[in-house]
Amino acid sequence: MKHLIYADNAATTKLDIDAFEAMKEFLLDFYGNPSQLYSFSRKTKKAVKEAREIIAGCIGAEPDEIFFTSGGTESDNWALKGFAKKQGRKQIVVSPIEHHAVLNTVQALKRDGYKISFLDVTENGVILPAFLESKINNDTAIVSVMLANNEVGSIEPIKELAKIAHQNGAAFHTDAVQAVGHIEINVNELGIDMLSASSHKFNGPRGIGFLYVKKGTDLYPFMDGGAQEKNMRAGTENVAGIVGMAVALRKNCSILNDRKRYLYELEERLVKGLREKGLDFIRNGAEEHLPGVMSISFKNSDGEMLLHRLDLMGVCISTGSACDSKNTQVSHVIKAIRIPEEYAKGTIRISLSKDNTKEDVDCIVSSLCRALKP
Ligand code: PLP
Repeated sequence: MKHLIYADNAATTKLDIDAFEAMKEFLLDFYGNPSQLYSFSRKTKKAVKEAREIIAGCIGAEPDEIFFTSGGTESDNWALKGFAKKQGRKQIVVSPIEHHAVLNTVQALKRDGYKISFLDVTENGVILPAFLESKINNDTAIVSVMLANNEVGSIEPIKELAKIAHQNGAAFHTDAVQAVGHIEINVNELGIDMLSASSHKFNGPRGIGFLYVKKGTDLYPFMDGGAQEKNMRAGTENVAGIVGMAVALRKNCSILNDRKRYLYELEERLVKGLREKGLDFIRNGAEEHLPGVMSISFKNSDGEMLLHRLDLMGVCISTGSACDSKNTQVSHVIKAIRIPEEYAKGTIRISLSKDNTKEDVDCIVSSLCRALKP
């Protein structure tokens, strides 16, 4: 296989080796159903309990506030549908730059009679508290704003937004799929009611995630069936996935600051490299952003063409979110933050990880230079 430079870590990440090692015995040897009473299942039951404690510890939650799901999409669906349908208010407030896991969920709720209000957003991809003040009212059931955007990386002022939601009697959910395991998070400091996370975004296995639900938050179960997850999310537990997710999250959280510093250095090198080559581009997003996530718009270019040309050179980047990649149009995020027309179509997302090197960055710069040549 030719040398591959993987720079699409916001789409998914490489499984951490320790997570893989920890999962192995639950795939091959200890496959007992955690709900069974015999001793063979004791180990799996204990592993699920310990994983829940580890995950809760990483975000400042209590273990019984963590519910395992199949990933970010399920967590978002559950939080919004499960909460909205439990109470009488009819308005749902979301940002226009949410992932489709939220946007299409609120569209489904709209078909059930809910009113959806979209917040304004700055040109840097930030939802200012004043934007929420102007949309929220005494019919708002829930406000959902992502902790960090998956395309441009901007980090949102969640603490201030959650406070406004609560002052108006509404609940607050945040899609933290891109943020968990990448920046420090404490659910109590943020003052949120629900938080969605997905393991494959922080070097855990795919197909597993969790929803944090603050104690006392009233939700409908997501899956009806067995008694797993305190009767809230039925189905036999994905024990290996749960264990792998916990190991990966604990490891990522233990190196947050070093990783952040390293990725900011790589970002700086990449931007400097592009400037030195004299390329005409703008970097999108806010000053406060996810380490390693870079949305760059090249003037009079085409993001999809760049993606394919880079692919031929062994470099993986994307045009926007992975779930959007079949759509050749300018993404809803780039539209919402009003990137000038001559740049918008030439937008790509480079998302670096701790496994990327300075040499990778230099190669991305030179590959982009070649790809941009007419
Ligand atoms: N929310 C955000 C912000 C995402 O970036 C993604 C995936 O790209 C999701 C939700 C969906 O997560 P999953 O792939 O685990 O369903």
